[in-house]
This record gives sequence, C-alpha cells and structure tokens, in this order.
Amino acid sequence: MSPEYVQEKVARESCLVEPFAVTSITEEGRFTAANNDAAESPRQSVVALKFGGSSLLGAERMLHAAELVRAAARSSRVIVVVSAMKGVTDRLLSISRTLAEGKLSHARNEAEGVLHLHFDVLEDLQLEEAKHDRVRRGLQLLGRDLLHEVPSQGRVATTPELADRLASFGERFSARLFAAALEKSGVAAVPVSSSDFVLTCDTFRDAKPHLEETRARGRGILLPLLEAALVPVVTGFIGATPDGRITTLGRNSSDFSGAIIAHVVDAEELVIWTDVDGVYTANPHVSVEAKLLHDLSYDEAHALAASGAKVLHPHVLPLAAETEMTIWIRNTFKPHARGTRIGLPQHAHDHAQFGGAA
Ligand code: ADP
Ligand code: ASP
Ligand code: MG
Repeated sequence: MSPEYVQEKVARESCLVEPFAVTSITEEGRFTAANNDAAESPRQSVVALKFGGSSLLGAERMLHAAELVRAAARSSRVIVVVSAMKGVTDRLLSISRTLAEGKLSHARNEAEGVLHLHFDVLEDLQLEEAKHDRVRRGLQLLGRDLLHEVPSQGRVATTPELADRLASFGERFSARLFAAALEKSGVAAVPVSSSDFVLTCDTFRDAKPHLEETRARGRGILLPLLEAALVPVVTGFIGATPDGRITTLGRNSSDFSGAIIAHVVDAEELVIWTDVDGVYTANPHVSVEAKLLHDLSYDEAHALAASGAKVLHPHVLPLAAETEMTIWIRNTFKPHARGTRIGLPQHAHDHAQFGGAA
C-alpha cells in the first residue's frame, strides 16, 4: 500500500480538512515558503528522534539527550520531535479547568509557575550570555502569550479550543529549550512549531491530521533546514486547523507526531527515546513478570499499544506499517541498551532495500 493511500485513508476516516497554503514561520521567526520547490529530498539519510517528557525533565536531562542527538548527527541528518517536560501538560490542562471554575487568580499563579519552571531550566543550562538572552527573549514572548490566555480578572469562556491552546505551550517551551541545549552541545538546531505545518481537522483535543497536506507543507519547512545542516527541533502533540487555530492530537500523541514528522522527511527510522528499555509484555513499573520484547512486527506492536501500553501511541503503527518505517523504542537513561525494534522482519527489510536481490 502506498503512502498516498495512507494519507487518503487517514483523511477519509477523520473530519474533512481542506488544504491550505500559506507562508510559515519557524519558532524563531524565520520565514519559509510552504511547498518550496527548492526543497528536494536531502541526500544523506535522515533519522527522527522523539524525546518524551521524562527525557527532557530539566537542564541536566536535556543536555544528556542532546548528546544522543549529537552522536546520531555524526552519521545521519537528524530531526528531533519533543514532548513537553513531564508534568507540564497536566499542569496546563489543570489551568484550563481552574479557569472554568472561575478561579482566575489561582489559574494565573499556576501559569506563572509553569513559566518560571521553564526559566529555571534556561538558567540551569548555563548558556553563554548572548545565547541565553536570545532564548530568554523567546521564552518571554511565549510566556506573554500564555499569560494573555490566563487573565487574573474578568471572565474567560473555556472551550476545548482554549484547552488545546493552553496545552500547546508545553511543547513550545520545550522545543526552544532543547534547541538551546543542542546548541550548547555543539549541534546547530532550530525550534520549529508543528502547528506551522501539521494540518488537522478542528476536533480539538483529538484532532486528526491531514497527511498529504502536512507532508507537502512540512517538506517546505523542514527540508531546507536539514539541507542547511540544522537539526529541526519540532514540537510534538500539536497541529493547527486550516484557519490557523492550534489543535492537539490527543494525550500522549507526541509519538504519533514523531511518526508523522518522520514520514514528512522520509526518515528511515524513528527512535522513540523514553524511560524504559523498550516495549515489555506488560508495564514494567507495575508487573515484575514483564518481559522485554526485542523485535516486534507492526501488528504485534499495534496490539500492545491498542491494549493500553502507554510506551507507544497506537496511531504510530498503522502509519509506520504503511510507510515501512522502522521504529525503535529506547531508554534515554541507558543508551547502551538495544531497545525494541518494530518493523518488517530484518531479512524482508534487507530484501526490499536491495531490490529483491538474494
Ligand atoms: P514518554 O514521556 O517518554 O512518552 P510515557 O510515560 O508516555 O513516556 O511512556 C513510557 C511509560 O509507559 C513507561 O514508563 C511505562 O510505565 C509505561 N508502559 C506501559 N505499558 C508498557 C509496556 N508494555 N512496556 C513498556 N512500558 C510500558
Ligand atoms: N505532552 C503531551 C501529553 O502529555 C503529549 C506527549 O507527551 O506525548 O499528553
Ligand atoms: Mg508518551
């Protein structure tokens, strides 16, 4: 089945999304033309690395994760997809509930707390002065937008749309901070907001992406960055409607964003860096009997994800299967461990890669 089929299938199964074409701006304010004709496929192979919230919790972990990116960037072009720092999305959604209860000053304090959490990480990154000031300015602008959504007086109409807008800030903060951590580690990186190219329907909190349009728009933004030897650090979790309203793809969906973004740039592999050694037969934090699974087919992984194995979002697998992308689940804190490989059986993959030669 061709990737185009997947795109059509996903669009059919979801709400109808009309294509749109506008000029986009990266999180750092660089303009990039959508559907850029000059955006050819990058020559070198591309790997996509997705980091979950516990892998990015604080400056020390970000700098550790940055070393993993640096190692990968020695042999491939790399694109990064980030979650919010662990706990941040929960806090942002609880602000939305607090607003709905009319407890405005409580919500405001909480929003300021979230902002300061990210400023603290920036301080802990100990960047050189000019870089520090640049990143601080970016966080301030984002923080201003966040606080604008959470006024301390008056009335706020809380809607699913507002909840998504609030929830989006976690990934937008972490993309900026992780790009800064990468720069500190000697990897040229640029934060990119996925809402600039991940086009979705307007089912807020569970928006479905339109893959074909997302791919066209995403290539226009991401391929020139890869060509320029920059590592795009893309926000997971979020997209936008055709008229530019921020949506989210559902809780825990940054894995899915990772697969979408890997597909956009034709990455050969998506590595999902998390806090366990791979996919187990059961949650290893709950069951002492849980056994690590080394190799899984797409169907096997899908069955586990669909039955609630939080380590992998279930939407990843159909897309990975259709595009024959290899997925690895690996432990950020034990990078020497092999992890779980999800893909075509190794020999079938080799066969396909070498045009069927035995
Ligand atoms: P991340 O923030 O990296 O996306 P998640 O918390 O979403 O991480 O997913 C990782 C967690 O998934 C693990 O810490 C583990 O508790 C849980 N989990 C549930 N089922 C499984 C399973 N079958 N195998 C591995 N981890 C699982
Ligand atoms: N930050 C989002 C959440 O907590 C998405 C993710 O982490 O995958 O649901
Ligand atoms: Mg997760």
